[in-house]
Amino acid sequence: MFDVLIVGAGPIGLFLALLLKRQGLDVAIIEKREGAVFDPRAAVIWPRTAEVLAAQGLTPAFARERRLLEGVELNVRGVSRGVLRLRGLAGPQSVPWIIEQHRTEALLREALGDLPVRSNHTLVGLTQHADRVTARVLTRDSEASLEARYVVGCDGAHSAVRKLLGVEFEGRAHDGLECLQVNAECEWERPPTPGFCRFDLIPNATLLAVPLPERGFRFVSFQHARGALQQPTLEEAQAQVSRISGQPVKLTLTSPQWLTRARFQDRLAKRLRQGRVLLCGDAAAVWAPIGGRGMNVGLLAAHNLGRKLALVASGEADASLLDQFNDEVRSMVRGVMRTLRFNRLEYPSSALALWFIDRALRTASAQRVVPRPIERLLSLTNLDRGPERRLLQSSADARRRFGPVTS
Ligand SMILES: Cc1cc2nc3c(=O)[nH]c(=O)nc-3n(C[C@H](O)[C@H](O)[C@H](O)COP(=O)(O)OP(=O)(O)OC[C@H]3O[C@@H](n4cnc5c(N)ncnc54)[C@H](O)[C@@H]3O)c2cc1C
Repeated sequence: MFDVLIVGAGPIGLFLALLLKRQGLDVAIIEKREGAVFDPRAAVIWPRTAEVLAAQGLTPAFARERRLLEGVELNVRGVSRGVLRLRGLAGPQSVPWIIEQHRTEALLREALGDLPVRSNHTLVGLTQHADRVTARVLTRDSEASLEARYVVGCDGAHSAVRKLLGVEFEGRAHDGLECLQVNAECEWERPPTPGFCRFDLIPNATLLAVPLPERGFRFVSFQHARGALQQPTLEEAQAQVSRISGQPVKLTLTSPQWLTRARFQDRLAKRLRQGRVLLCGDAAAVWAPIGGRGMNVGLLAAHNLGRKLALVASGEADASLLDQFNDEVRSMVRGVMRTLRFNRLEYPSSALALWFIDRALRTASAQRVVPRPIERLLSLTNLDRGPERRLLQSSADARRRFGPVTS
């Protein structure tokens, strides 16, 4: 019998497996797909998440592949409105890292060392007993049972674990918003300064161009959704980037190919713990990728759970600590969703709203400093230090294992 069975080898399941393994737990991780997944989805790791990865000694591996995000060049209707500098944000990892999700996953898999990801293992059933959970799993050609003292569903937005528990995924569709993303090399007249993102706003559309570590850019464009959701074409992406950035561009797709259009939901699971089964990552909550928060917040939730589950599984803390995980992470997610609703920069704005935003940007760029609350929002250092402090205050053992909290 395993201490913990993790369902899903996306970034959140992999990181949680690493945290638990490093604390001496016997962990199994299963994944329904064959081999590694190559969706580049999340492209930025924000400072607080980077701090949590660094605490696991992952900085050298990430440093080989990441690129530092120095700042954002802001343009309204093609006219420069200054630069938001990101070097020197709050926390010890004071510059965001640019690295695509499939590379983050590859580095986490590497860090797992001799702990294998069991591919072609699809969870189809769960039975809870007083002291353990039995998981029914389909493999390529048979069916197997795995037993563990705890099970964590890190199996994404359509989580089988959440559905098997019958936990409601409360929330709503993001009416009328869609996002086109493409990874491409770009020929343009006014490229961003190396190391900087370019951010363009026009009425009813926004565009972010993030320089990728190897080559090319990730273009992320939000606009109002119309009609049925259709797969975009390269020509359409090129026309959209040209229109919003106010210059003719030529795009050439890069590999692994990423040309998608998506619509989103804001949803949070009603409970993240039911007995010996827990939910983490997209299985627990999803929202639009405004601000690039999904994977980052999921990694912080895994960090929260990893510490608590290790204390509970080793008998050093009562199982009620897992309810604290539920409360803290649900509250963190609700906070993130609230602040995203007020992110008027990335949401497409009407011509009138854009006029006000433009005035605010001109005033801010004249002051040339990022206000402290905005800095804390950008770096995510506002999110999880409170729970971390409480955990360390409540347990001398946690202090011994994890050391002081940085501020
Ligand atoms: C278009 C798009 C753009 C995004 N952009 C950003 C961004 O810019 N920044 C950001 O931070 N986030 C972004 N996100 C969100 C980010 O990708 C997710 O938050 C992240 O992937 C969550 O990781 P996860 O491990 O929880 O789930 P996933 O990455 O979905 O992984 C879940 C894993 O579980 C496996 N699985 C599912 N069911 C089972 C089963 N029954 N048995 C076994 N295995 C199973 C799946 O195969 C999968 O490998 C974006 C998402 C989308 C869709």
